[in-house]
Amino acid sequence: MNNDTLFSGRGDSRRSFLHKMGAAAMGLPALSWLAGPAGAANPGFVQGGKQLGVALVGLGGYSKHQLAPALQQTRFCKLTGLVTGTPAKAAEWKGKYNIADKNVYDYKTYDRLVDNKDVDIVYVVLPNAMHAEFTIRALQAGKHVICEKPMAVSVAECQQMIDAAKKARRQLAIGYRLHSTPHHQQVMQWAKEKPFGAIKIVETSDGFRMGDPNQWRLKKALAGGGSMMDIGIYALNASRYATGEEPVSVFAQEYKTDPVKFKEVDETILWQLKFPSGAVANSTSTYAASVERMYVTCEKGWYEMGPCYGYGPIKGRTHKGDMDLPQVVHQAAQMDDFAQCILNNTPTKVPGEEGLKDVRVIEAIYKSIETGKVVQVTA
Ligand code: NAD
Repeated sequence: MNNDTLFSGRGDSRRSFLHKMGAAAMGLPALSWLAGPAGAANPGFVQGGKQLGVALVGLGGYSKHQLAPALQQTRFCKLTGLVTGTPAKAAEWKGKYNIADKNVYDYKTYDRLVDNKDVDIVYVVLPNAMHAEFTIRALQAGKHVICEKPMAVSVAECQQMIDAAKKARRQLAIGYRLHSTPHHQQVMQWAKEKPFGAIKIVETSDGFRMGDPNQWRLKKALAGGGSMMDIGIYALNASRYATGEEPVSVFAQEYKTDPVKFKEVDETILWQLKFPSGAVANSTSTYAASVERMYVTCEKGWYEMGPCYGYGPIKGRTHKGDMDLPQVVHQAAQMDDFAQCILNNTPTKVPGEEGLKDVRVIEAIYKSIETGKVVQVTA
């Protein structure tokens, strides 16, 4: 989508409203993870204060290209441990990130983390169906955990993870990095304050064109589902925080253009949510094409963002003008948010309960597709 073409005519005069509602007004923390040259020129930071140790579990694409680089920019945590089933990766990463031999584990030795004081936080970055087991094992080893989205492949598993965190008296966060970005925080704040009146209609869509037909994302046993579990969850999560409400019912339909590639999992799902206030959401999740937007229309105005679920920069605007907010390195902001919660003994804003709520709606979406009926979403 070419935003400049679609939204031409935006003038500086219309920016003042949003500028006033910008970072300072939102009480954002010191922006150490500013994206781009300002952030890049400032690696390492802090010093003097305590930095918690993070172990990454699963050294695949997301760990390699996003989380490990972000951990070079975090102020309150740093990369101290690795868990991988591939010895060659262990060797490469140890050298690159200067990780001690004693802090490198495989999936069998993983539970020995219990004896390792260099690791405070375990970050589970494995295929979705492995999230529950590796989260619970880390909690049992006495570690705080960040688990990637989707939290797990069923509500039952999510509940087991929440119970394990309570029992271990450790914090469990889900990798919802967008909750640590100024743009999405602004949308959450507007859901509370309703500066444009009651929220009426929300449209959210997330998708990309799926490549490699042999990856775990296309295997139900490892992924739990298709595009809906993987990226539709962003559109779903956004509709929940854009309204600030939990849906009461859902109606969904599934479409496939490539039944061979998407034999086991969903390619495209369209769904509608009804919220208690009367607001409704219309959303799309797809592996067929690139799409990334959210649109919220209210009694007295509207706002929208796109692109808005990728790693940035995020672009947003309202009927009054552009959203003039800082861009951050999502993962660095997210991991520092969590580290501060642990250091200050305050609850994370993205706990297991938040992950469970999305998985509950996803289960209702799949049930609606299966039955062809509206499904109530019950807690
Ligand atoms: P990936 O395929 O690149 O990496 C998966 C890792 O798991 C690899 O290191 C692989 O070796 C390991 N693994 C262990 N057992 C495996 C098995 N049985 N089959 C396949 N791989 C196995 O995947 P990824 O893109 O890094 O995704 C990992 C997790 O991170 C997923 O849950 C995904 O949803 C999440 N993710 C989140 C974001 C985000 O923006 N928050 C972005 C990408 C991925």
